[in-house]
Amino acid sequence: MSGSGLREPQLQRLTQRLEELGYAPCVYGNREMMAEDLKQESFRAQTRCLVAAGGDGTVDDLINRFPGIPLTILAMGTENLLAKQYEIPRNGALVAEMIAAGHTRNIDLGLAGQKRFAVMASCGFDATVVKKAHEARQGRITKLHYIRPILETIFHRKRIELVATSPDLPKPFSCELAVVSNVSRYASNLPVNPDAIDNDGLLDICLFRNITALRLIRHSLQGFLSGEITSTNIHRFSSQMVKLTSSSAVPIQADGDPIAETPLEFRVLPKALELIVPEQAANSKLVQIYVQNFAAE
Ligand SMILES: [Mg+2]
Repeated sequence: MSGSGLREPQLQRLTQRLEELGYAPCVYGNREMMAEDLKQESFRAQTRCLVAAGGDGTVDDLINRFPGIPLTILAMGTENLLAKQYEIPRNGALVAEMIAAGHTRNIDLGLAGQKRFAVMASCGFDATVVKKAHEARQGRITKLHYIRPILETIFHRKRIELVATSPDLPKPFSCELAVVSNVSRYASNLPVNPDAIDNDGLLDICLFRNITALRLIRHSLQGFLSGEITSTNIHRFSSQMVKLTSSSAVPIQADGDPIAETPLEFRVLPKALELIVPEQAANSKLVQIYVQNFAAE
């Protein structure tokens, strides 16, 4: 939870309803204080879950700092793909009731180098945009911060040459953009890896080659309009591991934060996160909510 969000009405609704349900919620605007408390074994033993009050970046921060503790989300961020995936309500009181109901789903996490991520990581065009947006920003990042870096990256593009290797690729694959997905959601709801399953112990990887500005726009439009992105320049596969290398360093982002540069190895951590979710998301074998929602949004 960022400092400015502490007076957020949904957060107040969450803590109030949790108290009514007999819980003693602790709200932190400072992750160091949270770390201090969680160091105490007795405190940790009594902790039902962490609530990421924010977006996908906040989720990633918590799963990296405090692995092994159950988690849920009060969606308040720029991008809330994980909360959308499981239809976690954007309402503090309902999130409190969901915590009390206690339905959980054990999902895989991705590992990019040493960093855990919940939704997806990528290397190439969009990671370059994320890096530029973060370098240029002052304060909180919004979707508007991405417009200029997107245009700059499209029109002043340096050629990116990535090589992907994996036990599940017959030979090294040259590409310009790689998206490594843990769950099927992607920014703006684009169906980049729509078949990714959150608990199958595999990452879903989409490699794009011969990318031009025009092709990126066409793939995006095709995705928006048809719910599908297909092309002979795209190769998709699933694997426990993929490695990306390049002759010069290329930025890598995970869930909207710049995290590393090539070379980097991506792995899966099977069922590494216990997520508290609505009952219908806990019980569905394959979460296909994404597909149903695609037409609705
Ligand atoms: Mg998977």
